[in-house]
Amino acid sequence: MRPLSLAAPCPCGQTHAGRPVSFASCCGLYLDGEQQTAPTPQALMRSRYTAYVLERAPYLLATWHPDHRPVELAFEPGVKWLGLEVRSFSQSDNTGRVHFVARVRDASGKASRIEERSRFVLESGRWLYLDGLA
Ligand SMILES: [Zn+2]
Repeated sequence: MRPLSLAAPCPCGQTHAGRPVSFASCCGLYLDGEQQTAPTPQALMRSRYTAYVLERAPYLLATWHPDHRPVELAFEPGVKWLGLEVRSFSQSDNTGRVHFVARVRDASGKASRIEERSRFVLESGRWLYLDGLA
């Protein structure tokens, strides 16, 4: 787990009126909030990206649909997340999709991009990550 000041710009890169939104008022609401859960698939996707940046395995597992989540989650050492771009998103009453590109650099310095079309479902009032297609 990597620490982050609540006042720091949110790792997910969210902006409001052209300015970075703080971690405290963005993904921190869900990662560190006792009660609050991400209200939309896009918010959940952004918060899961931030959870990867901050290596918050419990949050990632808790927001992963039980039928699809791994038993445990390990983070590759030395990985640096470089940014997130949400390309598009859509939502119905209980399903959602988010198409995103994340950029990452591994410990050897090699950069790559991860593009995924993620699927989400609403269960018992909480959005959960189902799976993703490249
Ligand atoms: Zn955020």
